[in-house]
Amino acid sequence: MTTVPSLTAAPPPPVADAERALITITSRPETVFVDGQGSWLTDESGKRHLDLVQGWAVNSLGHSPPVIAEALARQARRLLNPSPAFHNRPMLDLAERLVGLSCFDRVWFGSSGAEVNEAAIKLARRWGRRMRGGAHGVISFDGAFHGRTLAMMSASGKPGWSSLFAPMPTGFAQARYNDIASVERAITPDTVAVMLELVQGEAGVNLADLGFVRELRALTTERQLLLIVDEVQTGIGRCGRAFAYELFGIEPDVMTLAKGIGGGVPLAALLCREPFNCFEPGDQGGTFGGNPLMAAVGLAVVGTVCRDDFLAQVRLRADHLARGMEAIVQDHGLVAERGAGLLRALVLPTDTAHQVVAAAHALAPVGLLVNAPRPHLLRLMPALTITDAEIDQALLLLRQALRAGMA
Ligand SMILES: *Cc1c(COP(=O)(O)O)cnc(C)c1O
Repeated sequence: MTTVPSLTAAPPPPVADAERALITITSRPETVFVDGQGSWLTDESGKRHLDLVQGWAVNSLGHSPPVIAEALARQARRLLNPSPAFHNRPMLDLAERLVGLSCFDRVWFGSSGAEVNEAAIKLARRWGRRMRGGAHGVISFDGAFHGRTLAMMSASGKPGWSSLFAPMPTGFAQARYNDIASVERAITPDTVAVMLELVQGEAGVNLADLGFVRELRALTTERQLLLIVDEVQTGIGRCGRAFAYELFGIEPDVMTLAKGIGGGVPLAALLCREPFNCFEPGDQGGTFGGNPLMAAVGLAVVGTVCRDDFLAQVRLRADHLARGMEAIVQDHGLVAERGAGLLRALVLPTDTAHQVVAAAHALAPVGLLVNAPRPHLLRLMPALTITDAEIDQALLLLRQALRAGMA
């Protein structure tokens, strides 16, 4: 994207030059974003983009919402970080708030999804050593995504990940998603926990079956296994309830949150029920865990999102979006639309999702940002505050992008 030179300020260096200082991890479009408001991003050239990616489902309240800007400014002036060895009020308040909203009794804060998922595995192994004679194995699922640390790569079910950075941490077994018999087969005397995404986001917005989840809850209880739900992507209103486990009528033993709880800033949480509150002092920690700056944002996000009236609005917006996507499936000959709340996907008949993403980004005068976690699949994860008018505009842009990208 070229920028218009101004007489007063030097134009920013071309992205291709500036990018030379970055370690290469992925290929990004040339666009440099400079401003965000609600569902909209503006790039350096002044072009506006309607954003249905929202930082990968992290900006639950959209870009730069006033409640977060104010929480950050207020807390930044008071106290940034007294160290995790001391209490601070936002951390205590947010923990109480999350306990009050959920079936859990205890919270530990971290900064990323992978970090709290690691902590969940450590907690399970700790409990296994204490209560189950040293049982330590964790069963996860094909297609699962739990993060990018070495152990979470072992826990994830992405093809190729088990050998990419060998040697990998061991102690993980894989079962088939929505197949309870495969879980039973994977259980050994060493198994201590089952780790599940109730909706697999990265694998393509795959929903767990109601019956499967209920059977899994019964099975894990009967065999004395912890049921850990990874709600990093599904939690904090994304699926139309505070937590996605509510949709299944079960109560897990352990839950992890990240992405949406920070509304765009790095904040994550591990939650457990009282019997599993078994870390010894020194077992777990982290320099940034529970710092008041991020916790203050978490309080603002949770206080806004996890209210009945707000969640009811999310469900209405999700219905509106789903109906529009269903019409697109009919009109454009797609395979299906699916999702839970405002975590939704369109299944394409061909492997053209990356072309559609590029076509959507290139639309003018207004671009559309969507994401393709799989070659045949588009994922939509708008701000929970997106308006019906913005949804309608996004659907129109999506139709244009599909015509251009699938051609
Ligand atoms: C994004 C994600 C993670 C990893 O979170 P990071 O903050 O990137 O470490 C883990 N689990 C699920 C389900 C996710 O969607």
